[in-house]
Amino acid sequence: MTTLGELGEFDFIERVSRIFSKSSQSNNVEIVEGIGDDCAVVRIGDSTLLVSCDLSVEGVHFRFGKVGAADIGWKVVAAALSDIAAMGGVPVCALMSLGAPVDTDVDDLEAMAEGMHASAAACGAVIVGGDTTRSDTGLIIDVSVIGTAPDGNYLTRKGARVGDLLVATGAPGRSAAGLIAQERGIDAPELLHAHYHPEPRIAEGQWLCARDGVHAMIDVSDGVVQDAGHLAALADLGIEIDSAKVEPDSELAAFCDAHALSARELMLAGGEAYELLFALDPESGADTVVAFNEAFDVSASELGRFTDAFEGVRVDGEPPASKGFEHFATEDS
Ligand code: ADP
Ligand code: MG
Repeated sequence: MTTLGELGEFDFIERVSRIFSKSSQSNNVEIVEGIGDDCAVVRIGDSTLLVSCDLSVEGVHFRFGKVGAADIGWKVVAAALSDIAAMGGVPVCALMSLGAPVDTDVDDLEAMAEGMHASAAACGAVIVGGDTTRSDTGLIIDVSVIGTAPDGNYLTRKGARVGDLLVATGAPGRSAAGLIAQERGIDAPELLHAHYHPEPRIAEGQWLCARDGVHAMIDVSDGVVQDAGHLAALADLGIEIDSAKVEPDSELAAFCDAHALSARELMLAGGEAYELLFALDPESGADTVVAFNEAFDVSASELGRFTDAFEGVRVDGEPPASKGFEHFATEDS
């Protein structure tokens, strides 16, 4: 017997992908992208749909009671919609499926639904359905999302080229710092806000999708190193991250100094950031970053470069200290 812990999340996905991808045609609808990207892409007539789902489990993704139910609702929907952002899509609607213990406080569930509604509305989406069942092991929340790719254009994880710049939006690392603050009981409201109120980079993703020179894109759910690794692997390339370019903002830097944490480590390995990470043609790169930073409140910054000198992700020439989040990682893996 091979256990999930031994196999790991990504090899497991690879195995089911082999089974599910035995067919790519469904009732004459074209499956343009199947398993392996942030969303699946389905073409129906002239419309291109982006489809994705995101599962959150109490005790793994959130701790009910430690934080407001509305915040949890906001976050689970934002996490799902971030995958639409990662492809440059336009969110349309979402379905919310809930497994909940019989003794769950209905006021909490209503507050959670308010948070979900607000999170979807902030991205222009509406929650149109779901499913409800009893759970004997805490809350389980699945959010499925549907978006469109206007004009049929979208970005995938695949397509980075040698010499491309690796660019990230915002400050990945703030969310992970917020989680640490919560777990240690440290008062850091702005960082906690970053953890529970991620704002999917919807407009930013659409802007990048429309821009020449953006070759591939992913959203950061498992940490920059882990998610950059997906961009690298799909291009058969490596990525050299220059740690001097991984600049925390002053608040994150001060928080890390005060609590003996490495801000760079959080920036590179911290999960649930829901920022965008993309491969950018070096020719137009500087102009694109400047134009992006003029267009949006959140800024984009270069972290490194794609290379054919090696595969995988290196930081200053070395394998990274921490690779990021993997669901079935064990102590010795
Ligand atoms: P993300 O972090 O963007 O949500 P994941 O790493 O969860 O992406 O998933 C990567 C790809 O694997 C996606 O295309 C997703 O749809 C697919 N996937 C994940 N789990 C399963 C599963 N149990 N069955 C089928 N496809 C899956
Ligand atoms: Mg994603």
